[in-house]
Amino acid sequence: AILMISSVAVLAEVYGEVLRAAGAMERLMELLASRSPVREPAQPRALPLVQGGTALSLQNLQFNYPSRPQTATLQAFNLDIAPGETVALVGPSGAGKSTVFQLLLRFYDAQQGSIRLNGVDTRELNLHDLRGSIGLVPQDSVVFSSSAMENIRYGRPDASDDEVIAAAKAAFADDFIRKLPEGYQTFLGERGVRLSGGQRQRISIARAMLKNPPLLLLDEATSALDAESERVVQAALEAAMQDRTTLVIAHRLATVQRADRIIVMEHGQIVEQGTHTELTAKGGLYARLAALQFDLKQP
Ligand code: ATP
Repeated sequence: AILMISSVAVLAEVYGEVLRAAGAMERLMELLASRSPVREPAQPRALPLVQGGTALSLQNLQFNYPSRPQTATLQAFNLDIAPGETVALVGPSGAGKSTVFQLLLRFYDAQQGSIRLNGVDTRELNLHDLRGSIGLVPQDSVVFSSSAMENIRYGRPDASDDEVIAAAKAAFADDFIRKLPEGYQTFLGERGVRLSGGQRQRISIARAMLKNPPLLLLDEATSALDAESERVVQAALEAAMQDRTTLVIAHRLATVQRADRIIVMEHGQIVEQGTHTELTAKGGLYARLAALQFDLKQP
């Protein structure tokens, strides 16, 4: 178990934080086997940043995983997102939602098409700059065997204690951390204090906020939280989305209702888009998904 945890920690450190409980080892093996399938540019460009989030443009993406060359996981995928916009990705399991995140973080490069942040092709940026400008809140938040302070600082290792605490406050995590036996110095993880699901998510949101990224990627948890945690986590997420461009893999009605736009994916393509009201009225795939899942997950 310790070996597995340290492998997971290494994966998270090297590859950001794209972890899900199921399939994490599989992805790790694939990533290690393939080493890094992406290449650093010889002469990287600087990422032009703007206040209030980044513009994001995915143009004509065609992608298959290296291990499945015959299967197009994304095809003819076009998506333009304005600075500050909140876009929800929904669709049945296997539609390719997480794959979009993997390509944005450049764990893989698409075989065709381009991804641009403020007009700059992500392949022209060095990986450190690219990933530094993206905050990722994964579905299953990982808590490392270290103090609460270090767990959050992991989002930006050169952050001061004050900056860590400010991020924790913004993510509604400061209160519960202060109530831990040794406050910010409390040891977390397997051999330390175990946190609840909602607390782990807030640590993860604080980590993302510490980076102050212009682009936020949220993979919403499917597991149910109790009503109180749900409310606090929702508030923390709303604070995190403020003044940034946000792409969220959404599982909750509250999230899709609040999104500026909903993108409905199926078989690696966009099949519908619009607001919750528009798509519900349309009576298509979104309406069916909403009837099936969102009602059940509504707190
Ligand atoms: P879910 O809602 O279940 O997470 P999703 O919409 O996020 O689904 P993806 O995880 O992007 O879907 O998967 C899209 C397709 O790509 C699926 O058929 C999946 O099995 C496949 N896939 C995902 N990751 C890999 C990988 N590392 N290697 C090979 N195939 C993969």
